[in-house]
Amino acid sequence: PLTIDQMKTAIDDLAEQLKSEGKLTSPREWRRRSAAFGLPGLDLPKSVGGSDWNAKQMLEVFRHAGRYNLNLRDVVGGAHGRPVVMMDSPIAKAALQKLVAGEAYFAVAITEEDAGTDTKSMQSQAVRDGGGFRLTGSKLWNARLRQATHVVLYTRSAEGSPNAQSVFLLPINHPGLEIVDRYAHGLTGNSFGGLKFNNMYVGPEYLIGKDGDGSKIFEKHFLYWRLMQAAAAIGCGERALEIMAERIRQRHVLGGPIGRFTHLQQPIGEYLTKLRMAAALAREAARFYDQGNYEAAEPLVNGIKAEGVEIALAACDAAMRVHGAVGYSREVDLGDRVRDLMGLRIADGTTDVMRMTVVREQYGFDLWEMSIRGYSVAPPRERE
Ligand SMILES: Cc1cc2nc3c(=O)[nH]c(=O)nc-3n(C[C@H](O)[C@H](O)[C@H](O)COP(=O)(O)OP(=O)(O)OC[C@H]3O[C@@H](n4cnc5c(N)ncnc54)[C@H](O)[C@@H]3O)c2cc1C
Repeated sequence: PLTIDQMKTAIDDLAEQLKSEGKLTSPREWRRRSAAFGLPGLDLPKSVGGSDWNAKQMLEVFRHAGRYNLNLRDVVGGAHGRPVVMMDSPIAKAALQKLVAGEAYFAVAITEEDAGTDTKSMQSQAVRDGGGFRLTGSKLWNARLRQATHVVLYTRSAEGSPNAQSVFLLPINHPGLEIVDRYAHGLTGNSFGGLKFNNMYVGPEYLIGKDGDGSKIFEKHFLYWRLMQAAAAIGCGERALEIMAERIRQRHVLGGPIGRFTHLQQPIGEYLTKLRMAAALAREAARFYDQGNYEAAEPLVNGIKAEGVEIALAACDAAMRVHGAVGYSREVDLGDRVRDLMGLRIADGTTDVMRMTVVREQYGFDLWEMSIRGYSVAPPRERE
């Protein structure tokens, strides 16, 4: 097993190679080639061939990967394949073996056209059919479906409360699964689109956990995933500030370096410190996560998902601005960083919603309920 520093060096070497081949943002290429130094299995249990690194260690790896490009948020560890560990079937075991070997890559499909933040409005439905299930529904705004070998698919459960959900692991070419394509502005290493499935038969061996376990699986998985996404965003912002510091030293305008305009130095100091604050809080959240104290970790993780991404975005925007026209070109990657972070501020829980969950955890659920309760607006005559 490598140390964290050795892992970072291995990422540096592979990033340079893939950049020279024009494949820096390809998740499949990363997974295939980084299996040699254990990157895809880093946070998977040893029982499936992984290295069992904890959240505190993984945080540093995601942060380092994010320095290169935010698409690298998808190349570290088991990612959306992690919940498969709780399955027992030979299908799951084979999928995990491939994941560790760098041959598998997992997408996750939860969002639907009319159910994003409000996942409880999901319409995709599982119904029992003998020992298995029939799944009917559609998904939209899901990343990775064209690159993935497998998809973790959420539906309403066959039994239990109307809000309960079930989760299935399916090979991406499962009969009856149709991929729909949409255009995305950023995070272009992956596709963007959705799924359609109508009365699709799925055997019981594809179910993750039990029918109705969806919320439990979602909460545990996304607690970890949001923390790691924030770490990748922090790394992305930190690298942009380094590029910015170099630019204000090198670029001469009106007889001197633009760094003499000290207002261009101010954002570097501000955002570097804010990113360090976010990283310190992320480490605290990781400590709670590693102790199994998910209740303490959750408000920190959601807060960092919001603020880590927003601070990184502000840092990349500032770095792009000091570059003038070149910042708006493909000569530098700052525009990509801005665009990708704009995607991440929506993906995996929007900044707004993450902030609302922080408020409700700290000050009471009544404030959350106040925001989502349906208020009727009185007609004008009544208001008079
Ligand atoms: C790059 C990218 C990758 C994605 N990848 C995937 C994927 O792989 N799989 C998948 O299933 N989904 C994926 N998504 C979808 C993503 O999870 C949803 O877009 C997100 O949850 C928001 O849902 P929505 O787009 O329907 O927005 P809505 O829920 O319609 O929200 C609209 C606006 O209202 C705000 N808002 C909503 N509720 C509240 C509230 N209570 N308080 C304050 N503000 C609120 C939101 O912040 C947002 O600005 C991805 C999205 C993006 C952009």
